[in-house]
Amino acid sequence: MSESTLRTPSMQSMWLVEPGRFERREIPRPAPGPDEVLIQIAFVGICPWDARVYAGKKSVPLPRVMGHEAAGRIVEVGSDVRHLKPGQRVAADFIVKCGACDPCRTGRANRCQHPRFPNGAYEEFAVLPQRNIMPLVAESTSYRAAAFMEPLACVVRGQKMLRLAPGEWELVVGAGPIGIMHMQVARRYGARVIVADLIDERLELARSLGADVVVNSGQAKLKDAVLAATGGAGVDAAVVAVGASPLVVEAADCLAAGGRLNIFAGIYPVDPLNIDPNLIHYKELVLTGSADSTPEDMRDALRYIESGEVLVEPLISHVLPLDCLDDGFQLVLNRVGMKIMAEVGGDAV
Ligand SMILES: [Zn+2]
Ligand SMILES: [Zn+2]
Repeated sequence: MSESTLRTPSMQSMWLVEPGRFERREIPRPAPGPDEVLIQIAFVGICPWDARVYAGKKSVPLPRVMGHEAAGRIVEVGSDVRHLKPGQRVAADFIVKCGACDPCRTGRANRCQHPRFPNGAYEEFAVLPQRNIMPLVAESTSYRAAAFMEPLACVVRGQKMLRLAPGEWELVVGAGPIGIMHMQVARRYGARVIVADLIDERLELARSLGADVVVNSGQAKLKDAVLAATGGAGVDAAVVAVGASPLVVEAADCLAAGGRLNIFAGIYPVDPLNIDPNLIHYKELVLTGSADSTPEDMRDALRYIESGEVLVEPLISHVLPLDCLDDGFQLVLNRVGMKIMAEVGGDAV
């Protein structure tokens, strides 16, 4: 046996070493433990959360391999893994929940008190516990589509919080990839949806994917447009997918009696809501929020993707090689395009 075949195989990985700078490193390919699975990454989406860390607006321990919106193929499984096999195409959840804390035991694993963040997907291979791996059912599901499982799962959770009934009206503020996914999930629940944004191209995309009404809120007053669409009643639910307190206040003012509002985006820097408490009192409004997702939401999201009930591939505007990750992050930070993806192994995986 030659010396090279004895050496551990290596892989490329992109480490965020400080805000604004990735470093390409060649490191040993990880091996799965008994309960773990090794996957080869095909595509990984750039998440606004990652971009916030990159921009130095959120501090996490560095250096670190981020990237948590990925799909790929299983290459190796640990000795205790039974229901997953090498060769299977999968999507993955990159947050390992403890499974033992109170939130984990009460259907709120998204709020796990002791989550673990293994290396993410801005690299060629990743190791995760088997429970974090979701096999794709349909051969026709692309890796690019499956890579939307995690962000769509967050959206699914956000929509569940709003308890929509068929025929109700929902307002979605923000027509980025997240807002357009909210619109599609709300439509699956039987709601009619108004989407508001400042960019006409995004609104056109929202309309082409099913939005009932679109509003350019730079050109029309949002509340007037909402009242016109709903016969003067207001919307039954609203989700604010943009991190801005004034938009939350504006959306709350568009709610009908009994309306529910989800603050879906984190707001940085912190900006307290300037809201009339009597509005909440007399109209019996419910203000809620949602963050991340549970394993159930992940499963629901993957079903929506695989069934084509939520169309995600039209939301991709750029696919860049993993080496060009810095360029991808600049696009996200400059709000260019829609979903930016990095190609790691690509469709050949
Ligand atoms: Zn994300
Ligand atoms: Zn937990």
